[in-house]
Amino acid sequence: MPVIKQARPLEAGVDTIRTGLLGREILASRSPWIHQHEAEAQGFALSYDLFDFAANGWGNDLLGPQLDRLRADGFAGVNITHPFKQAVLPMLDELAASAANVGAVNTVRFADGKSIGHNTDITGFAESFRRGLEGASLNRVVQFGAGGGGSATANALLSLGVRELTIVDADDTRRDELAARLKAGYPDSAIVALAMDEASTLGIDGVVNATPMGMAAHPGMALDPDWLHGELWVADIVYFPLETALLKQARARGCRVLDGRGMAVFQAADAFEIFTGARADRDRMLASFDDFAKASQI
Ligand code: NAD
Repeated sequence: MPVIKQARPLEAGVDTIRTGLLGREILASRSPWIHQHEAEAQGFALSYDLFDFAANGWGNDLLGPQLDRLRADGFAGVNITHPFKQAVLPMLDELAASAANVGAVNTVRFADGKSIGHNTDITGFAESFRRGLEGASLNRVVQFGAGGGGSATANALLSLGVRELTIVDADDTRRDELAARLKAGYPDSAIVALAMDEASTLGIDGVVNATPMGMAAHPGMALDPDWLHGELWVADIVYFPLETALLKQARARGCRVLDGRGMAVFQAADAFEIFTGARADRDRMLASFDDFAKASQI
C-alpha cells in the first residue's frame, strides 16, 4: 500500500473556508492536498475534509443528511464523487448549466441558504484537451465509456467542436441515454451510438477512454490495441495510474496522447474558484498534483 501523506491537517478557524469531498473509497484522494496547498499559496486558510461513506460505514441514504449538516456547519461547498454524482441531483436547490447539461454534479456550492450544483469535469477536460492536444483534428472521435466521466468528456468534446462523436459502452442503456442527451444538447453535431463489436477507428481522428479500464483494479483496455494507428490522438481520463496500458500502446504506435492528470487538476481548479471566489493558479496546482505523487511514493 502506498503511504498517503495529506496536506497539513487544519483546525478550522473562523476565517477558514471549509470544503470537502463526499464519496466512497476516497481516502487516497489528492484533492485535500491540492486545494489546501493552493489556498496556502494564496495566503488564506482552507480545510478540505474527506467524508468517505465506505470507511465510515454510512449507507448511501445518508447523502442528503450529510449535505444538510455540512451546509448548516458553514461549509462553502463540497465536491461529490462516485457513486453520488447523479444521486445528488434531486437534493440540490439549483443546477448551473454545466451540471444540467451533463446530468451530474461534482461540485456543490452552499450560498445564501441554497445549494447549487456545478460540473467542473467538463471544463476540466476541455482545458486539459486545449493544452495537451492543441490543434488536434476534431472531425470524428470515438469515446469509450458513457458514465459520469464520459458524460463530461462528451460534452467537453462537443463544445470544443467535434463534428461526429461515437459513443461506445458495454452497457447499452447508459450509452443510449447519453447519446440521446447529447443529441438534444448539440443538434448540429452527429452523435452515433455503437455496440462494442461495431466500433472501429477507421477514418477516426481521436479516441477517448472514459471507462475505468486501465486502473489497477481494472487492468487492460476497452479497445483492441490493433486499432491504434499513428494518425490517431488518444486521451485517457484514468489517473490512477497516469500511464495506462492504452496510453503506453498508443505512444508506442506514434499517437499523440493525453493522460488524466490535466482533467483531474483543472476540474479541481474550477471547483476551488467556485468555493473561494479566488482565481486558481492552474500551473501551480499541476505542480502540486505532481508533488503529491512524489510525497505519497506512488
Ligand atoms: P462510471 O462507472 O460512471 O462509468 C464507467 C462506464 O464505463 C460505465 O458506463 C461502464 O459500463 C463502462 N465500461 C466499463 N468497462 C468497459 C469496457 N471494458 N468497455 C466499454 N465500456 C466499459 O465511472 P466514471 O465515474 O465515468 O469513471 C470512469 C473512469 O474515469 C474512472 O477511472 C475514473 O477514475 C476516471 N475519471 C477521471 C476523471 C479525471 O478528472 N481525470 C474524472 C472522472 C472520472
